[in-house]
Amino acid sequence: SGINFDKFDCIAVKVTGENPPRAIESFETANLRKYVLDNILKSGYKKPTPIQKHAIPIIMAGRDLMGCAQTGSGKTAAFLLPIINTLLQDPRDLITGPNGCAQPQVIIVAPTRELTLQIFNEARKFSHGSILKIAVAYGGTAVRHQGDNISRGCHILVATPGRLHDFVDRNRVSFGGVRFVVLDEADRMLDMGFMPSVEKMMEHSTMVPITERQTLMFSATFPEDIQHLAGRFLNNYLFVAVGVVGG
Ligand code: ADP
Ligand code: MG
Repeated sequence: SGINFDKFDCIAVKVTGENPPRAIESFETANLRKYVLDNILKSGYKKPTPIQKHAIPIIMAGRDLMGCAQTGSGKTAAFLLPIINTLLQDPRDLITGPNGCAQPQVIIVAPTRELTLQIFNEARKFSHGSILKIAVAYGGTAVRHQGDNISRGCHILVATPGRLHDFVDRNRVSFGGVRFVVLDEADRMLDMGFMPSVEKMMEHSTMVPITERQTLMFSATFPEDIQHLAGRFLNNYLFVAVGVVGG
């Protein structure tokens, strides 16, 4: 533990937890599949941001993560790249549960429609040309179209907490096959009053053995309620704070 300065960016990075893997210095040395690397370069990313340098190897090592970094610091790619890499490295068939209930392998929860759409679009960009199926679900529109997309099977589902909750209640989505659960913008979900649905969703994820799933949380700030949530649902996790003083 303790604060050290990232040599290249001079932003204070604090990493706590057992045996953190070494941060990467470039995408090229991150051990990503060529296909993923090509899609990164196609999107114009030349070098990883500080949160990406730390989060990518942590997620690739199979660890749970609580990542704190300010808005605009590249948190989306920090989780999407290693997740997509793992799905392609170790592909598993899409399984459908009873009555056509979808079992996404990755469930990403974000607080707003815009954020789910941003994550959805980034995920499509980084997995362009691959077999991965990605679906998005948010409130304020009819369930039907989104539900049909999900039922066709999706590796990655990006959803707002309320709509995800709806789908789980209707037995359209189950956490039974989940390999990664991501809570993005956890502090905003808290501010928007979504904690009850988020907690319920996290409880669904606990039916998958901890050895079979990775849980990742991202937040711009780290208030007590988020620390509490991390303590409850993350397993032997690493904590990475970039430029968050006193986090
Ligand atoms: P956050 O989730 O931390 O608010 P985003 O993931 O939305 O940040 O990223 C902010 C912007 O930076 C996006 O437009 C994204 O495409 C871009 N970006 C992310 N990582 C990199 C990178 N390594 N190099 C260049 N641009 C990047
Ligand atoms: Mg974000």
